[in-house]
Amino acid sequence: MSRPTVLVVTGPSGAGKGTLIRELLRRIPDLEVTVSATTRDRRPGEVEGREYWFLSPEDFLARIEAGDFLEHVEYVSGHRYGTLRSELERIRSNGHVPLLELETKGALRVRSDVAGAVTIFISATVDELERRLRERATEESGEIGERIALAREQLEQAGDFDYIVRNEELEPAVEELVELVRGLLTPAGTMSRP
Ligand code: 5GP
Repeated sequence: MSRPTVLVVTGPSGAGKGTLIRELLRRIPDLEVTVSATTRDRRPGEVEGREYWFLSPEDFLARIEAGDFLEHVEYVSGHRYGTLRSELERIRSNGHVPLLELETKGALRVRSDVAGAVTIFISATVDELERRLRERATEESGEIGERIALAREQLEQAGDFDYIVRNEELEPAVEELVELVRGLLTPAGTMSRP
């Protein structure tokens, strides 16, 4: 099996993708996360060019028309999110493997369009998703209900991806994800066995 060209981490909003990815990046230095573009508002603590490139709806559309996106979606409340092709080039020129955190539609798009892409679905229980989404609740209250409904729907898509990691407890989930990704990045036959 050859090394993945891109790694995609997907799953419902509230599954804990962000926390797991932070741990993954800390432990596997070959990976570098793509910074997506979005039209949603910046949340407290978010920095332009670190969490996202925050674009106006007009600029986002212009970049779609220019063919600048690898994939893009319209998500809750009509906000757009997308991965710029330039992010992949930037990361590869650093000698790293691009890691994309995407909602499920974008992840499926990358899975079918990008040769050598590997997709990992982060799963959680419905109760846990609801709890995390309410806790986060930086969005207007109308949007929370919409996000929970969407998260439930997305949970059912787990079987469409290459691997599933259940995030019920953080530490075991981190271990499982790190082992999985190490295995994917290590050329066959060179993995050391305990
Ligand atoms: P949030 O607004 O909470 O930061 O992100 C909402 C959702 O958008 C998350 O599920 C996240 O994975 C997804 N997302 C972030 N960036 C992108 C992107 O570039 N493309 C796609 N398809 N989804 C994205």
